[in-house]
Amino acid sequence: MATPENKLAFDGGWEYDPAPEGVEHIRAKKRYGLYIGGKFVAAEKGRTFDTINPATEEKLARVAQASELDVDKAVKAARKAYTGPWGRMKASERGKYIFRIARIMQERAREFAAIESLDGGKPIRESRDVDVPLAAAHFFYYAGWADKLEYAFPGRKAKSLGVAGQVIPWNFPLLMAAWKLAPALACGNTAVLKPAETTPLTALKLAEVIADADLPPGVVNIITGAGDTGAAIVNHPGVDKVAFTGSTGVGRIIQKALAGTNKKYTLELGGKAANIIFADAAIDQAVEGIVNGIFFNQGHVCCAGSRLFVQEAVAEEVIQKLKDRMETLIVGDPLDKNTDIGAINSSMQLEKIQSYLEIGQQEGGTMHQSSCSVPETGYWCRPTIFTGVSQSNRVVQEEIFGPVLAIQTFRTFDEALSKANNTPYGLSGGVWTDKGAKIFKMTQSVRAGVVWANTFNKFDPSSPFGGYKESGVGREGGLHGLDAYVKLGV
Ligand code: NAP
Ligand code: MG
Repeated sequence: MATPENKLAFDGGWEYDPAPEGVEHIRAKKRYGLYIGGKFVAAEKGRTFDTINPATEEKLARVAQASELDVDKAVKAARKAYTGPWGRMKASERGKYIFRIARIMQERAREFAAIESLDGGKPIRESRDVDVPLAAAHFFYYAGWADKLEYAFPGRKAKSLGVAGQVIPWNFPLLMAAWKLAPALACGNTAVLKPAETTPLTALKLAEVIADADLPPGVVNIITGAGDTGAAIVNHPGVDKVAFTGSTGVGRIIQKALAGTNKKYTLELGGKAANIIFADAAIDQAVEGIVNGIFFNQGHVCCAGSRLFVQEAVAEEVIQKLKDRMETLIVGDPLDKNTDIGAINSSMQLEKIQSYLEIGQQEGGTMHQSSCSVPETGYWCRPTIFTGVSQSNRVVQEEIFGPVLAIQTFRTFDEALSKANNTPYGLSGGVWTDKGAKIFKMTQSVRAGVVWANTFNKFDPSSPFGGYKESGVGREGGLHGLDAYVKLGV
């Protein structure tokens, strides 16, 4: 925490030496095909697109762009594996394959982490310590369930659904792939998965792991492309289940498209999480949690704590401490181990964030940004807070998906609760207080899928995750996450 003395030291140029993660060990290709039926193949129409490093704007690789024809091929390959070897396999054998994926992923963790940071812009500290270990942990966790489904649903018979169509966003590319694939496979389904256009590389690396784990061809198919590829997966009549993570806008389109079909679906959508700090909270700990919740990973987190409600008595102290802490955050090279805030994922996302910075000021909010410099090329946003905003302001109501925090104050418990609930979203939240009773009351009353107490953004494969209201339908993770991939009979 910056005290007046060490703040001077920071301001006066307490510089960390660069500590970049090496990239020589990465086995990345310059061109990638679609992973269909156990092989990398070119797209039927031969179309491709480039994926770039958002920190340098340099091209990393050219990847195939899947059309409806390729989606059809992938769904057919998945069906063939489902009615063939995968469907006939004993559950305990299926589990061994999933364990194998987890182990190979762990062995190649450094490679996955570096590629995730290169392609998506997130700090290596995050991809190394959070994304990759958690992704492997999901495969380990669900591998264990494969032959124990009868215990997950006592008295009921759990049957697989068939082919799962899975579409994921760019903020946790590998982790979202793991969230989707691990339970699908454990329950005996096969899958067609599409990563986001701007972050295809770790999913393609995962395809290599899946090939090395010797999964029967077609059990997992990974196809790259943009929104229309995602739509083709969702709308393909051969898909039995749709699992989507992304924006509420696209979630709505998908829900409409699926209405009246027999497809089962889960939608994990946007959020506008509130952190609530009571005057009796451990303030330094809370400030660190708020910083972690909104600034790390550039605010590219569906459950980012993008709204802060502080009890009036401590508001001045909290805001000052937040400003001091913001000054010490290091924005820059995602591959540097000291970096706190990496690159914004794409130029489009940066424009969106910048437009919200304008809107917030036009609406009368007071904007404060850290004074750090940012690199000249690439996409960057300094950590930003807004004070003097009210409930009706767009920066308070809408998901920005950037390192932007809107701060308001409250006097009473009920005021904090009603302000926190006053949003169309309900994905997550946080409460900071010394009193257990307040924690219980608040966590019971906030309408959000996950509420953390005196901590934030903690994940475990055994905990279910999902939203209330416009934040989604269904749960992923834990025992609840199995339910989304089975039909139950007697
Ligand atoms: P997005 O624009 O909705 O895209 C998500 C995925 O859907 C991408 O693969 C996208 O492809 C694809 N897509 C776009 N249009 C489609 C359509 N009409 N039909 C089917 N698929 C389509 O979201 P994003 O900007 O990538 O991700 C950010 C959003 O994800 C935020 O709102 C965030 O809160 C949410 N999110 C939620 C959770 C959660 O668990 N609740 C977790 C992470 C992120 P292209 O990208 O290639 O266009
Ligand atoms: Mg990229």
